[in-house]
Amino acid sequence: MKVFKFGGASLRDAANVKNVASILQTYSNESLIVVVSAMGKTTNALEAVINAHANQSGEANKLYEAFKASHYAIMQELFEESDPVFTDINDTLVEGEWVLEEAPNDNYDYMYDQLVCMGELVSSKIVSAYLNKIGLPTSWLDARDVVATDNMFREGWVIWDKTKANAQSVAAPMLEKTKFVITQGFIGSTSENFTTTLGREGSDYSAAIFSHCLDAESMTIWKDVPGVLNADPRIFDNTIKLDRLSYKEAIEMTYYGAQVIHPKTIKPLQNKNIPLFVKSFLDPKAPGTEISSDVDDLYPPIIVVEKNQALMHISTLDYSFVAEHHMARLFGMAADLRIFVNMMQNTAVSFTLCVPYVEERVEAFIERISDEFKVKVESGLELITIRHYTEETIASLKKNKIVLFEERIRNMLHMVVKNIPLIERKEVEIAGSKA
Ligand code: ADP
Ligand code: ASP
Ligand code: MG
Repeated sequence: MKVFKFGGASLRDAANVKNVASILQTYSNESLIVVVSAMGKTTNALEAVINAHANQSGEANKLYEAFKASHYAIMQELFEESDPVFTDINDTLVEGEWVLEEAPNDNYDYMYDQLVCMGELVSSKIVSAYLNKIGLPTSWLDARDVVATDNMFREGWVIWDKTKANAQSVAAPMLEKTKFVITQGFIGSTSENFTTTLGREGSDYSAAIFSHCLDAESMTIWKDVPGVLNADPRIFDNTIKLDRLSYKEAIEMTYYGAQVIHPKTIKPLQNKNIPLFVKSFLDPKAPGTEISSDVDDLYPPIIVVEKNQALMHISTLDYSFVAEHHMARLFGMAADLRIFVNMMQNTAVSFTLCVPYVEERVEAFIERISDEFKVKVESGLELITIRHYTEETIASLKKNKIVLFEERIRNMLHMVVKNIPLIERKEVEIAGSKA
């Protein structure tokens, strides 16, 4: 049994759904769990709906109708008018309307999950119905019957024992009936049957959960890139595709923000030695990248840029040394507020943390420690991580940047930088101004 995951980009319109189906056709002899995300940028659209509902801006229903219309438009290209899929999708979409009919819940994260799950539910129903239509018998599985989580809405943590038992009792028998089982990424369920989500971009993680629980032979995620590249192709021109990566390399890369794979994906696979393939849905025959057990590979410099970072300079009010009990308090507070610490450094009376800048969390942190510490925040920064760095790569990445914080640990370099404003740069040249 293998697990495939198709993300939003691979399902963004009817032509892309057909392309996914044609890829699956070539695997018709295999047993597959197929995990899908919401289509295109649907999750962003549903976030706008829930924000409008929370703020009572009056736009929520209109935005929800636009979400529905975009899916009906895709369905009209895939199915005859009389196809039962229209009734099924209608019934599913009504559940979202119920969320909007109620007054906004005080627990925003809870309300968010009850609505945002609609994206994955409808996309998986559409894909499943289409596969059945073209003669690929497929069962539809509600991922919430398998993925059990705690009550941490928007960041559900998996309850593994329960999830494993559900996978055996619910998903495994479905695979006996039809070779393909289609399900949703990103969503799970609490013990009271409320929907949870696993964090943005969490569908890769869902696929890894299914792979782990069902002892998959391999997992493949299908992307719009040829595989894992040594840098984000949206930022850098001359990227190189990596043919092979170790689990360790992949976990380090994704932890520091490489957006190609969700950071929680690697561990459940590594724990069972399940290889992960990253392949292109635009060129399905090409080999892509294989991520598997650690060998001594030689890597080119691998660059990860994480935007929207802040440095928090924390110092004691009374000039007492920053001691271990201070650090215990600061880290406990960061964990409670879900502030992820990317880098840290201390002097005698101060402590500096590099964290993703989520304003309300940072403000709450400052407020809660104000009895003992004063804090200066510098936001609008980038964290650049280079694994297997060379001096040449470092120099090229420092161009037009002011480095505020730098650290080298074995083969990894981190630097927190800000861009030098155009007005202070000496070498700025106006294109075409040289005769
Ligand atoms: P999905 O549709 O599966 O959710 P995403 O759009 O979230 O896919 O992720 C794929 C995108 O990640 C690529 O289009 C690419 O622009 C970006 N990306 C960032 N870093 C890398 C990297 N190191 N290698 C490959 N792609 C990367
Ligand atoms: N649809 C969700 C998101 O956009 C999950 C995913 O695509 O992985 O965050
Ligand atoms: Mg994505």
